Amino acid sequence: MGDSLSELVKMKLHLSKVIDGCRLGVLTHLGRKGTQSMEIPGCLLYTKMGSAPHLTHDTLQMVQGVPVVTQLSLSTLVELHEVLAEYKEGIGKFIGMPESILYCSLHDSVTRFPSGYNNNKSVSTWGSGGRTELTPSKFMALQQVIQPDWFQCLSDGDTVAEQISKKRAKKSVDRSLSFLDECLQLQEKSPELQQSLMIGVIEGGDVLEERLRSAKETSKRPVAGFLLDGFQTDAMAKKTKHELLSRVVAELPEDKPRLIHGIGRPDEVLECIERGVDIFESFFPYEVTERGCALSFSCNYNLDPEAAVLEEDEESDMKGKKDENLKDGTLSGAQEFTSFEINLKEKRYQDDFRPLVNGCTCYCCENHSRAYVHHLLVTNELLAGVLLMIHNFQHYFGFFSSIRNALKEDRLHQLRGIVGRQAF
Ligand SMILES: [Zn+2]
Repeated sequence: MGDSLSELVKMKLHLSKVIDGCRLGVLTHLGRKGTQSMEIPGCLLYTKMGSAPHLTHDTLQMVQGVPVVTQLSLSTLVELHEVLAEYKEGIGKFIGMPESILYCSLHDSVTRFPSGYNNNKSVSTWGSGGRTELTPSKFMALQQVIQPDWFQCLSDGDTVAEQISKKRAKKSVDRSLSFLDECLQLQEKSPELQQSLMIGVIEGGDVLEERLRSAKETSKRPVAGFLLDGFQTDAMAKKTKHELLSRVVAELPEDKPRLIHGIGRPDEVLECIERGVDIFESFFPYEVTERGCALSFSCNYNLDPEAAVLEEDEESDMKGKKDENLKDGTLSGAQEFTSFEINLKEKRYQDDFRPLVNGCTCYCCENHSRAYVHHLLVTNELLAGVLLMIHNFQHYFGFFSSIRNALKEDRLHQLRGIVGRQAF
């Protein structure tokens, strides 16, 4: 064990370009062997207990551009504690993904959980077995049997509900810093966790001075990267969020990656990238799949946003989406249809024999039509979820690849224009 500690290969971030706050680069020396790398801006592979929703290992292979790093949430793994302790070889091998780079987050961004259960000693998570109180020692004992490559440190991110007080924001930072110090001490003593990288968490709700204190203090600790927590879509007004993100990110060292949770919409992803965020989740294509929808937005930044005229059928799709959105009314985040998707449950798709998206090279679009997926959806066939997940993942991963290409070619503002035009 001593040898492997001294030979530990450390993750490195190489930035090839920083333009107007956007960072283009690559994280190298990832994984147990230190041989893998991940391009940024990028996203993580969203999973439930380590497997992509609706997909088997084999069907996931059909998806192009699958992220290098897989995300698991601790809330779904809590019940496995004893099993994993007995198994001893870590979650990667247990779920049949021994080669994958695994990032363990605290919560699942898709699941809402009740507020008011965190205190100075513990943070609560909710899994299939109900609530679990995680003290730093229980949390680190879990990480020790999971043996992830990266993990989000225990933190108090319960600052989203309603309007929180300044005092509550301060508490979230105090607690998170004290959890961080305790977890770092425990990690030092754990031989099993010497190869796992801890991601420090920036909290503080919508209170600027607390956010800045959180960023400054967390930066002083030996963390491998930073998670910007509590910025999900409906957490605060957009203007506040943008201001906070810019100020917080300015406090962080350049040479470590910045992750964010709870941001999925393409327009919001771009807004965060422009404020220096590097890594996102991919729960959004999963939510779209669960609504019976297919991502259909264009990220072709070579079209001039001023002059670009959409094909006639796309134009009518856009109108349909707009009407549907207006009809739906509410703006409650996760359940809401967005203008980036088409709702294949709608009757107008029953004899639409085009692919989900013209020109898409995914398995679903190359082999099936909107009409077929519509039929699978209305008859509740499980294959609907499989085909939609394949398309939606590939479309979303392709979006990140477009972002990187646009950055390389100094055309991010064109991409921003195209995506912005589709957002309402
Ligand atoms: Zn497709």
